[in-house]
Amino acid sequence: ASAQEKTKTYIIGTDITFAPFEYKDADGEYKGIDVDLLDAIAIDQGFNYELRPLGFSAALQALETNQVDGMIAGMSITPERQESFDFSDPYFESGVVMAVSADNNEIASYEDLEGKTVAIKVGTTGADFAKSIQEEYGFRVNTFEDSANMYEDVQTGNSDAAFEDYPVMAYAIQSGLKLKIPTDPEPGDNYGFAVNKGQNTELLEMFNNGLINIRANGTYDEILDSYLGETA
Ligand code: GLN
Repeated sequence: ASAQEKTKTYIIGTDITFAPFEYKDADGEYKGIDVDLLDAIAIDQGFNYELRPLGFSAALQALETNQVDGMIAGMSITPERQESFDFSDPYFESGVVMAVSADNNEIASYEDLEGKTVAIKVGTTGADFAKSIQEEYGFRVNTFEDSANMYEDVQTGNSDAAFEDYPVMAYAIQSGLKLKIPTDPEPGDNYGFAVNKGQNTELLEMFNNGLINIRANGTYDEILDSYLGETA
């Protein structure tokens, strides 16, 4: 990238509560796999950025309207999104999964959702998946702006199930959330860093180059290990 590109401060949109990818720690600082990967890549490539935790659907809108330059938010690379955005190389494998309250012994499959209420997070692949099976299995949906409120609705029993990314749901449960995962995740999902289509191509290129470098020098593995442990 040119000297001018490198002195520019890129504004990067992200989610608000999506541990272990981005979340506020006890000091009010944003941390997580996405935050650390972006930081390591920015250092490697020598660019400046400012992180904006906007929430997932708000970040999508901000990216679409060029109010942010890029987005990293556990964002799945999908064919529909590829019509509006350009994605980096994939940096993490994921998949949508169903979760129910830890003491729920009634829902063990999608069939058991008949007549039930499902919590979804607006704009996500989890919401898209739930809607794609809604008619077949006959459930209602409650829509939420963020993951924390979506989980809360299931914990309190207002919703019977939620659809969320598997690594995020598993991490929340491991951290004490009283939900459980009765079914296998839907496969074939990958996270990517995104820019608006045809915009900030130098930023996308730096992200991809930096990702290659931090994979090669061990930083990528160190970051993943620090949030997910050696088994990740
Ligand atoms: N991976 C999901 C998606 O891209 C959820 C992302 C999120 O909620 N931050 O839609």
